[in-house]
Amino acid sequence: MCEAENVQTLQRGMNFRLNPKYSVILMSQRSNAPYRDKILSDGITVEYEGHDQPRTRYIINPKYLDQPRATINGTFTQNGHFALAVDKFKRHEEGAELVKVYEKILPGVWSLKGFFDLVDYKIELDGKRNVFVFILSLSAEQNTDSKAKIDLKHTRLIQSEVKMEVWKRDHGKCVKCGSTKNLHFDHELPFSKGGTSLTSKNVRLLCMEHNLAKSAKIE
Ligand SMILES: [Zn+2]
Repeated sequence: MCEAENVQTLQRGMNFRLNPKYSVILMSQRSNAPYRDKILSDGITVEYEGHDQPRTRYIINPKYLDQPRATINGTFTQNGHFALAVDKFKRHEEGAELVKVYEKILPGVWSLKGFFDLVDYKIELDGKRNVFVFILSLSAEQNTDSKAKIDLKHTRLIQSEVKMEVWKRDHGKCVKCGSTKNLHFDHELPFSKGGTSLTSKNVRLLCMEHNLAKSAKIE
C-alpha cells in the first residue's frame, strides 16, 4: 500500500517535492490527530491544515503560535513552500502542484488516497492563532506515468471511518486470498462507477492481484 514512498519512514507530514514530479502529504482524520484534516462533502476535496513551529526549548506549546511561513533564518517552512506553489498557480506561472496524499487509518496503517491538485490555501483563525488551510482537489490524473484521466463526476473518496471499519471487519487481509501485502480498498478511486462508497458495505480489502483481476473484468 505504501511501498512507493515508504510512508512509515517519512519524518514529517508535509514533503514539498519529495519526488521531482510531485509532493507528498500525510493526513489523518483520527480524533487524536495533531491537525484538523478533512474531506469535504463533495467527496473529492481535502482541507489540509498546515504545520506548527517545531518544538524547541523556547517553544513549549506550538499550538499557541501562528503557523509560520518562514523560519527565523528566512527560509521557507513547508507551509511556505506549499503556499508559494499556490500563489504561482493563481498567477498562471505554473500548473497546480501535484500532491500525493496518504491517510493514516489506524496506527501503522497508511492508505493511499490518491493524487490531488493543490488549488488554494487560506489563513484561518482557529480560536487562538492563525493556521494555514490548504485546499486540494482530487486530480483527474492518478498515474504519473500515463495520460489516462479518471471520471471525477463518478468518483468519491472513501471516508476514514469507513476505511477503519473495513480494515477491522476484513482483518487487514485480502478477502479473496488472505494476503496482507499491497492491500487496496476496493471501490477506491477510478473503479467506482457511480457506486457509493459511503458505507462499509460497498467497500472491501483486496490485494493488488485480486484488485487488478477485478478491474480487468469491468473494462
Ligand atoms: Zn488476494
